[in-house]
Amino acid sequence: MGKIAVYPGSFDPITKGHLDIIMRGSKLFDRLIVAVLKNQSKKSMFSIDERVDMLKQIARDIPNVEVDMFSGLLVDYCKDRKVNAIIRGLRAISDFEYELQMAQMNRQLNQEVETIFLTTSTQYSFLSSSLVKEVASLNGDISEFVPEIVLTELNKKLKGDV
Ligand code: ADP
Repeated sequence: MGKIAVYPGSFDPITKGHLDIIMRGSKLFDRLIVAVLKNQSKKSMFSIDERVDMLKQIARDIPNVEVDMFSGLLVDYCKDRKVNAIIRGLRAISDFEYELQMAQMNRQLNQEVETIFLTTSTQYSFLSSSLVKEVASLNGDISEFVPEIVLTELNKKLKGDV
């Protein structure tokens, strides 16, 4: 049976940093599921459906990548979908402490799933969804940082069209 990985996150919205991890992660596994967290408590700019839709359009051309959403514990989702590994991206030391804690907790909860970290490509090491939203809201040019569809949708949001 093929090896399956999940790349979980908020993706609010997806950036080129995320996309880089998706491309690289998809080469390591037979299948990669990009799973968007449905998190009621975290205030997001894009709804869960909008985030999933954008990801689907972006991942359309990568044959072994699928897009899904999940709520509840990630390790339970992994059991349901027979996932072998969780992929997370590391940008800086500041990501490390939280990511290590999560990985260790997840291993306590489910020994069958390993967390694998991919280090960011240097050109994206400063990129985060929240910074992209902030720069865009101040009329900064974010076209280098996000896929085209995100640029379009972000501009619509900021103009108040949707
Ligand atoms: P979360 O709310 O789960 O942190 P994010 O959508 O912000 O969700 O990030 C999902 C994953 O992608 C995290 O592991 C994060 O560290 C990683 N990531 C975010 N931006 C980048 C980037 N520019 N380069 C590499 N990894 C990144």
